[in-house]
Amino acid sequence: MIKSIGYAAFDALSPLKPYSFDRRALGATDVHIEIAFCGICHSDLHTVRNEWGGAKYPLIPGHEITGHVKAVGSKVKKFKVGDTVGVGCMVNSCGHCTCCKEDLQQFCARGFTATYNSTDAEGKTTQGGYSNHIVVEEKFVLTMPPHLKLENSAPLLCAGITTYSPLRHWKITKGHKVGIIGLGGLGHMGVKFACSFGAHVVVFTTSPHKKADALKLGAHEVVISKNADEMKIHLNTFDFMLDTVSAPHNVENYMSLLKHDGTLCMVGASPEPHQISSSVVIRGRKNLSGSLIGGLAETQEMLDYCGKHHITCDVELIPIQKINLAYERLLKSDVKYRFVIDISSLSHK
Ligand code: NAP
Ligand code: ZN
Repeated sequence: MIKSIGYAAFDALSPLKPYSFDRRALGATDVHIEIAFCGICHSDLHTVRNEWGGAKYPLIPGHEITGHVKAVGSKVKKFKVGDTVGVGCMVNSCGHCTCCKEDLQQFCARGFTATYNSTDAEGKTTQGGYSNHIVVEEKFVLTMPPHLKLENSAPLLCAGITTYSPLRHWKITKGHKVGIIGLGGLGHMGVKFACSFGAHVVVFTTSPHKKADALKLGAHEVVISKNADEMKIHLNTFDFMLDTVSAPHNVENYMSLLKHDGTLCMVGASPEPHQISSSVVIRGRKNLSGSLIGGLAETQEMLDYCGKHHITCDVELIPIQKINLAYERLLKSDVKYRFVIDISSLSHK
């Protein structure tokens, strides 16, 4: 057993608190990682507050993990002590189903083992990255690009791959008009990738004060989505829209901005259902789709792409003692553009 400490939620309402627990002993194909940084994803907040159901307390969130290899099991081939590594939303999957064989572990027929709030092969609940140590099966450990700062690259492990994957799947490139809806952790990475792939990028935000940032991130246009006149200018013009909004909102308004045969891809996971009338998809043969993180090979491809093109996340680094305040600010869309926890702060009194 590996003695660990972290910050856990004990129910859906109370603030997160320090928690001591054991990680499993290192197995032959395991990598023991000393965690340096962990991003704060809105999914952490949805899960902790049990907005999606199924929360298992005590619950240590965190699936945007970067750190250093502290030890490796006897059969580990890819990593050695001291390597800089990352762990995203998955720590295992069945490995045998069609999806796993196609490197789409996120769609594993048996359900992948999530980094936290999941049940592992030993029947224990997994615990995430708001903690100092983690033990992960070698296959689910990613190599971090050597020259990117670990605090700025931690959110690539979820916000990065969740936006990279659909933009690649729908082959976004020069000549496409792409909308990014919501400028938060996912949204700001969506802007960076869509611009990097050569698209004409329009950000839709409810926060007028984010307009200048959106342009600085590379967006070509910004629409304040509460302004009907600004929205109308873009009717029937988009090839693709990526919807990253974390709360209920009017999806039909955005579908009406798609060109015929255009696609709106949901990545935001509002706990409340959305309403869509049939005519919105019928007229213009429009597509409403979704996407979930990305497989291991694609996540490594995304990290390598970021290393090559110097793409990282804009982060606000916080000590873990500020986690509850960060959650309050996240709920108010008040973060530029990802909180990342400096895990060394766990030793602060
Ligand atoms: P975030 O940083 O909080 O960003 C969400 C953004 O949505 C906000 O910054 C805000 O942007 C907008 N927004 C929030 N409330 C809104 C409302 N009531 N109406 C309209 N817009 C609103 O969250 P995130 O970490 O990027 O995550 C976004 C969502 O994606 C979450 O639901 C999360 O669970 C989900 N997610 C899904 C996957 C996947 O694999 N599909 C992976 C990770 C996360 P503006 O201020 O610009 O309006
Ligand atoms: Zn996430």
